[in-house]
Amino acid sequence: MPMERGITLERAISLVQKEKKELSIETILLDDSHGRILAEPLVSKVNDPRFDNSAMDGWAVRKEDFLESKSINLSIVGISKAGGSSPPSVNSGEACKIMTGAPIPRGANAIVMVEDSEIHGNKVIISGPARENYIRLKGENISEGEVILSKGHFMDAPSISLVATMGYDCIPVFCKPIIGIISTGDELIPPGFEINNWQIYESNSFGIADLVRKMGGTPIRYPAVVDSLDILRKSLDEAAKNCDLIITSGGVSMGDFDIVRKIMELEGEINFWRIKMRPGGPPIFGKWRKTPIFGLPGNPVSSHLVFLMIICPWFRASFQADEDSKPRLGRKVSVKILDSVKGAVGKTCLRRIRIVNGEKGLTATTHTHQGSGNIHSMVAHNGVTLLPPNYDANAGEIIEAFWLN
Ligand code: AMP
Ligand code: MG
Repeated sequence: MPMERGITLERAISLVQKEKKELSIETILLDDSHGRILAEPLVSKVNDPRFDNSAMDGWAVRKEDFLESKSINLSIVGISKAGGSSPPSVNSGEACKIMTGAPIPRGANAIVMVEDSEIHGNKVIISGPARENYIRLKGENISEGEVILSKGHFMDAPSISLVATMGYDCIPVFCKPIIGIISTGDELIPPGFEINNWQIYESNSFGIADLVRKMGGTPIRYPAVVDSLDILRKSLDEAAKNCDLIITSGGVSMGDFDIVRKIMELEGEINFWRIKMRPGGPPIFGKWRKTPIFGLPGNPVSSHLVFLMIICPWFRASFQADEDSKPRLGRKVSVKILDSVKGAVGKTCLRRIRIVNGEKGLTATTHTHQGSGNIHSMVAHNGVTLLPPNYDANAGEIIEAFWLN
């Protein structure tokens, strides 16, 4: 495939989605399934509700007894409790005490709330309505044998309860893709170590590892490599052997020591280089020894935003996630921008903004220096603009943005 250069964000996303990974499937305990992605459609083993039952604490009665007057006396025939089997049947003029979730006695077809009743000996005086819709009907929520969750479904708390309701203690999910992360640069020292005047703490691999975890992958942070083709080659080979995807940081621009670009040109396979976005213009995407590889720019804001824009879609495609479902790091929204923000010539512009959900809907402001080296700007803000190429937004305009929440 010939290398594409300087492509639009949309084109970049469609190219990375084509290189999605076929993930294996594993069966895991439901208790361990939070954040995992269902790998097969799930069919319910049972009806929900499993049997007709009461939505209220009260009295199971016959609707016909209530046709003439509102206040009536009924004979108490017994009690139906949740978990109790075969309650006594209800005939005309009778009522059976019933608890929420308890089976409806034979003959009863309506429920009176306990608040609308008073017991006198073996009689109950009823002063309120008898309602059929206080009966939860067998199978009205889900039916036995019905496909309830589709492949690609993200498991969150309600999904976990639903799956338990359906009778499963284990579910098939996609294996977590293993993502190798390699930072490059002579200037990098791991945090916690002694540092010289010309060195900086290596930060990208830590943040990227967290993004990987959030997207449902397992990160392996390899030690940062100096700007040497031989050392980088060794590290890439090691990562290609062990990982489903490699992410590098640094060394993809036009500088003399931009060794990721160099090694990819000499020995890799490049699908594209450079995207029309700012910040984050210079990423490379291709394959290293058959393993897909994203070469992210070293500037910390750029590496985070490139991850957001083009690596998230790779994860979502690999997980076969449906349009609206997770995993994702945020969502597209329309916001009223309260500060004017400059766009970029020929590029989608991602200015950092702080989005507030207030009385007047979503509004956004800018707070810090916007340089791509300023990772603090990603913490001081909680979103980015998605300004189209050549577009400056005036204060008060409604614009598209990505809300990281
Ligand atoms: P590069 O893309 O290698 O030209 O690096 C661009 C800028 O990002 C330089 O200022 C680097 O020092 C900085 N940088 C590169 N890699 C990292 C990293 N892993 N952590 C923090 N800063 C980095
Ligand atoms: Mg560098």
